[in-house]
Amino acid sequence: MVDIDNIKNIAVIGGGIMGLGIAQVALLTGYEKVTVMDVSSEILERSRKLIQQRIEALESVEKCKEFFASNEMLKNLDFKKKLGSFESVGIVANKVDTDTIMSRLYTETEISRGVIDADFVIEAVTEKLELKKGIFKQLGEFSPLGAVLASNTSSMSITKIAELCKRPDKVIGLHFHTFFPLTGMLIEITPGEKSSEQSLELGQTIAQKFPCLTGKRFIVQLEKETPGLIANRISSPSGMYLEWLIDYAMDNGFSFEQLGVLNFVFEISDDIGLDTSYNALKYFEENVSPDFFPGKYLTKLVNAGRFGKKVGKGYLDWNENGSAENLPSLDEKATEFLMSHLEGEIFPALSLNEACRLLEEGVVKSYRLIDKVIFKGTLSPGPFRMGKDKYKEWVKLLYNVAEKTGKSYFKPCEMMESGKFLELR
Ligand code: NAD
Repeated sequence: MVDIDNIKNIAVIGGGIMGLGIAQVALLTGYEKVTVMDVSSEILERSRKLIQQRIEALESVEKCKEFFASNEMLKNLDFKKKLGSFESVGIVANKVDTDTIMSRLYTETEISRGVIDADFVIEAVTEKLELKKGIFKQLGEFSPLGAVLASNTSSMSITKIAELCKRPDKVIGLHFHTFFPLTGMLIEITPGEKSSEQSLELGQTIAQKFPCLTGKRFIVQLEKETPGLIANRISSPSGMYLEWLIDYAMDNGFSFEQLGVLNFVFEISDDIGLDTSYNALKYFEENVSPDFFPGKYLTKLVNAGRFGKKVGKGYLDWNENGSAENLPSLDEKATEFLMSHLEGEIFPALSLNEACRLLEEGVVKSYRLIDKVIFKGTLSPGPFRMGKDKYKEWVKLLYNVAEKTGKSYFKPCEMMESGKFLELR
């Protein structure tokens, strides 16, 4: 096994939303060679351009200020407070210029060539299990024996992903929680059934070294794998509920153009990628509960190739400047209808229930850790902070939601209903 001091080459498979963000943080860490792989040189050219733009945005404090102001996640943060972390990151800290950094970036369409000298590989291809299994088969064949092979999957089993790989002990999950890896603190490390302790430890050390603009990296290792890991699993019922609500509003005669009160949902979903969410929901449907089946409207958009901002169209149409062109309006009747289904503390209640399921399943041992993971991932308090006092009230709310939607998965689990989670501090 390669040790941390000898890690010089990072290979990233997939140059999409995540791949280019991961390549950016790997380049800023200072690795000698970062190789991004994708299916065509056109995609790789686009990725290279975007990586360059993102590195240039960090060239000086002035440029960084502009970058903060233009980034949805960063614009509400106090720039002065964040300056410390910016100065400790990447090109200001290392006193190198964009050209030097970009000279360490390589691209390749053939995995067999691209991973030949890789010390650490991070896979970030489309969220499809069979595709990932095939990639890890190739990684087992063509990467050096000591290389650790990580998947950035948001939902899938590392054990299944490693099924065809010759070296499943080297395969781990390493998941950046946000679609902009330089700005999200949280990285989740997931073991597969055959992952070795050494591979997991190396994954943790590598993850800790990736620079982050919003604060110190927070790395959590799951006790065992589960669909959606910790943070996405906890938010998944809220996503399911919102999707149900969009379809329900349309079934009741409202058009998409009237649903402006949900614009924040449409924007963030388009940022994440509708195909990624759709594929994750299909995986949840098969592996967690049939209630997760993707909604009608989402399915229609994905079938029409509306995969989100990355292709210029998703729920919304996106122009070249990255702005949405057809934001639905705030129609009075539709807003009233939607708000009548969003009242109460429905989202924290759904999150608390799912977090309790993670405790029940032994994915995490303490609720304080879950709260910390959620805070580091979303900068909002975790579900137990309010849930400790409110869970009895929320149990009733969840029974009502399950009845109204016909989705029994929304019913409270035993751990939540009994309040036994309180013993698992
Ligand atoms: P994306 O669609 O933006 O990019 C996927 C890339 O994989 C595409 O460029 C595609 O051409 C490439 N690809 C497909 N088949 C390939 C192959 N055989 N060889 C090489 N490249 C191939 O998707 P994304 O949002 O970057 O997601 C990638 C992974 O990261 C998924 O597993 C997803 O669950 C995970 N993830 C996504 C997010 C998010 O917010 N989008 C966040 C965290 C993790």
